[in-house]
Amino acid sequence: MNDESQKEKLRQHFARRVTTQARVVLDTWQKIHEDKSLSGAHHGEFVAATDKLVRYAQRFEMAGHADAGKKILGLLADWPADTPLEDALARQIQDAIEALSRSTLRRTDLDNTEAPHQFRRTPVYIALANQEMAGRLIRQLEFFGFRASAFSSAEELIEACALHKPETILMDVNFGDAVNAGLATIEQLQERHDTPIPIIFMSDEDGSIETRLRASRCGGEEFFYPAVDPGQLIEKIETYTHGNTVEPYKVLVLDDSRAQAKYMETVLKKAGMTAHIITDPMQIIHALEEFSPEIIILDMYMPGCTGMEIARVIRQQDRFHSVPIIYLSAEEDVSKQLHAMSLGGDDFLTKPIDPKHLVATIHNRGRRARSLLALMIRDSLTGLYNHTHTLHLLDQEIVRARQKDQPLSFAMIDIDYFKKVNDTFGHPIGDRVLRSLSMFLKQRLRKTDHIGRYGGEEFAIILPNTRPSDARNVLNEIRERFCELHQPAGDREFNVTFSCGVAAWQGESSQALCERADRALYDSKNAGRNCVTTSSE
Ligand code: GH3
Ligand code: MG
Ligand code: MG
Repeated sequence: MNDESQKEKLRQHFARRVTTQARVVLDTWQKIHEDKSLSGAHHGEFVAATDKLVRYAQRFEMAGHADAGKKILGLLADWPADTPLEDALARQIQDAIEALSRSTLRRTDLDNTEAPHQFRRTPVYIALANQEMAGRLIRQLEFFGFRASAFSSAEELIEACALHKPETILMDVNFGDAVNAGLATIEQLQERHDTPIPIIFMSDEDGSIETRLRASRCGGEEFFYPAVDPGQLIEKIETYTHGNTVEPYKVLVLDDSRAQAKYMETVLKKAGMTAHIITDPMQIIHALEEFSPEIIILDMYMPGCTGMEIARVIRQQDRFHSVPIIYLSAEEDVSKQLHAMSLGGDDFLTKPIDPKHLVATIHNRGRRARSLLALMIRDSLTGLYNHTHTLHLLDQEIVRARQKDQPLSFAMIDIDYFKKVNDTFGHPIGDRVLRSLSMFLKQRLRKTDHIGRYGGEEFAIILPNTRPSDARNVLNEIRERFCELHQPAGDREFNVTFSCGVAAWQGESSQALCERADRALYDSKNAGRNCVTTSSE
């Protein structure tokens, strides 16, 4: 190795120290930014991290980072320790932070970079052979509020993971020189972590079963082959960063023996599931409606009727057509078990129940049922609930609002002049706008709100336990923020607005409520668009 290249390597090595420290500063700022009331607690940490950044950057002659760090330190002088950060100062620091994050982006990302929006704390790491694509993805992810970093070597990626365990890694199977080097890197990486990092693999050339198997064994949750559209990828990344926590499975147990039912309840609860037990078969319809189970466990033999008969009744209802049913019995006669399965059961567990076996069976059945259900009830472009399911949820929420005597609001959104977006920038860009609005809504609404894609560029939102004035304020705030978003289209940018109609439930049917919200939406359109109208009917 000659002198020059050695020097260059050394320089790159130190440059990494500086960029890593810059990420520490960004992360600490994110903590402060997320909870201003607690910001005093992070004061010292933030000052120390920034100070270290400036020292590193000066030592390794990285002027951009040094300047950005000094700017932040200067502002920090105005923030006394142990006091919450004031808004005006926070804004100034935010500007300086954005300058710092711009210099932290890799060089390939520097062109056409816009100021990052809110950063989430845990990063997404990207390791692609195609650096240009990695750069494009980073820009798009930032647009949606993610913090992403790209890496150009396995060592760099491993080092970064040691410092900050990422939420997910997007990995090229061919990242590195050797064949399947990306897989080898992940295998090595996962050994260092107790809980595996979810990996999204992609490959342009190799979709063979051998490669897919190997990917899946080392934590590959997805395998994209051949190339993918960045929008699709971002959606996957969304699911691994957002909905990462698995909701507990809802299991309904019907067993005439109270002792057996209680035992099952204990086992299921211990495994983190939500269990609802009944001992009277005649309660089944009521339990299905009240509890909406995702999995049903039926005792085979009960006084008055058999589990198979109950299964048949359950299957007669469309809604429960695909809910897994597991039979429970001391039955060891295989032909009887087969007969039971042919009557709408999915699995058979023999008493006495081995708790491990039970839990594993429920996990397998539950996971599969959930992914099938997602295909049935979600819109594939945005991942939001589809029209049918949105109406179904609205019916459910109306029942609940009536029972609990709580308010319920319903909103319809329609993008303004969306046809023009398609005509000017093309259909794919139009699709991206739809996805950006859907993610925007997901980020800003409560977890208890339901968001559906009602039709082409129309969205419906169900806000349980919300008064119309509150619903209006929330949606108005979202409207204002959304129209500020810069929608990128090649080297151009544009803005999109939407109109919205809100209606409060007044005891009527879901149909009538939708119609009122729709009329309020059209009042918004007539009033010049880009506004929210509450139904006055
Ligand atoms: P207004 O402000 O009155 O709502 O005007 P508009 O152009 O948004 O409404 P219009 O109903 O005339 O056009 C809706 C457009 O939405 C037409 C259709 O091509 C487009 N659209 C519907 N579904 C999709 C989709 O899935 N992807 C894309 N890219 N465009 C879609
Ligand atoms: Mg429309
Ligand atoms: Mg429209």
